[in-house]
Amino acid sequence: MQDDLASLKARLREHNDLESAASLLRWDQATYMPSGGAGARGRQLATLERLAHDRIADPEIGQLLDKVDAALRRGDETPTTAALVRVARRDHERATRVPSAFVSEFANHRAETYELWTRARPENDFSRICPKLEKTVELSRTYASFFAPYEHVADPLIDDADPGMNASTVRALFAELRRELVPLVRAMTSVPPADDRCLFQTFAEEDQLAFGQMLAGRFGYDFVRGRQDKTHHPFMTKFSLGDVRITTRVRADDLSEALFSTLHEAGHAIYEQNIDVSFEASPLGQGASAGIHESQSRLWENLVGRSRPFWKAFYPSLQKLFPGQLGAVSLETFYRAINKVARSLIRTNADEVTYGLHVIMRFDFELDLLEGKLAVRDLPEAWRERFRADFGIVPETDSDGVLQDVHWYDGFVGGAFQGYALGNLMSAQFFEAAVMAHPDLPHEIESGRFDTLRGWLATNVHRHGRMYLPAELVEKATGKELGIAPYIAYLRTKYGELYPI
Ligand code: ZN
Repeated sequence: MQDDLASLKARLREHNDLESAASLLRWDQATYMPSGGAGARGRQLATLERLAHDRIADPEIGQLLDKVDAALRRGDETPTTAALVRVARRDHERATRVPSAFVSEFANHRAETYELWTRARPENDFSRICPKLEKTVELSRTYASFFAPYEHVADPLIDDADPGMNASTVRALFAELRRELVPLVRAMTSVPPADDRCLFQTFAEEDQLAFGQMLAGRFGYDFVRGRQDKTHHPFMTKFSLGDVRITTRVRADDLSEALFSTLHEAGHAIYEQNIDVSFEASPLGQGASAGIHESQSRLWENLVGRSRPFWKAFYPSLQKLFPGQLGAVSLETFYRAINKVARSLIRTNADEVTYGLHVIMRFDFELDLLEGKLAVRDLPEAWRERFRADFGIVPETDSDGVLQDVHWYDGFVGGAFQGYALGNLMSAQFFEAAVMAHPDLPHEIESGRFDTLRGWLATNVHRHGRMYLPAELVEKATGKELGIAPYIAYLRTKYGELYPI
């Protein structure tokens, strides 16, 4: 058994190394690569990804998994080995179910669609990309069919990003959440919005970066095992436990852009940096799901980074850094500015209260499109109608409507969005449990200390990597099933103080 386990681990490590090399090429493409490198980089990535896919789909891995599994059944079981076998088998089987002809067909279709989208969005031309999106829906259904039987055609796509979740569980949670959010948003937007002009002055780029990095370091992001660079769309990426990088985007005329994207990406990175060292380079050594990952980024960005205790600790140093811009702006004004709630058209710019509605709407459309209940050509109109119902406003163009997010034009329709809203729910549930365990936590944050919070997260969430399914992890860490109550309670408490709700 030990020999089989060792060779299984060696093969999984090779797969991991190929994936990490591809991630490094992608990081470089998004940060420093000169534009002349684009053509060759696309080819290099395709080669590495094909090699990585072949490694994990290798029948030898299947045979080794069977042997190790049989030994485990005879009683050699440790929870970690059992989890390793379970997760590696999942990855192996998912890779073998999808024919390579389909992988190439979809990769080509995806590249063409993305290319067309980069022009269709600025030109506000949905009709041009409509046939491509119709094809994407069809290919998404085909992809799902490789994992039949299923209850709902979206289930395999959801399961890819958020293992163990499916259309009916997510739909039930989101229906409940929407019922709470729609009236909340209506009440909050019935009064004049907060004055956030203090955020839109001129702030030197290097000062913004230094301040964000200082905060990320205080949260516990380890710069010896990480670094921050600039990019167009901020992201976090990991090459190994010793090299977990974040990126940001800085705007001289908007203080919130680099600041909150840094706190957000640092949250993702702290998660990856705290995964159990023994899981390194194995399938267990990653975040558990899109939703759990997003819970960590949103927790540090919003529950900590947009809270009053946090800014009691750090606003004086921000004022000192930008005395001309913020010297005369009170903490209260700044706090209200960074927590301004407004109806807005664009998901990525939305505040934390309206954000969920943007996500739920997209999730519902994905189900309707995959079920065939909604035709792609009717999507723009359906978008406007739903927007009117949920937000009370209507986008004037498809560029600000159905064309705004890259996801459907650079991947499948299905499974792309639920993680963002699940992450919000989980972030509040984790935070609530951490405060329950350590009632002094808000006071620690108020004095600029985060060790207890980070320690609680590392022990209860981070270190487990992919050991548990997301739902199990939430229940294990918080003692409760995933639900909307902690998130709604959080919003009501925080915003009840700011708005007439
Ligand atoms: Zn994120």
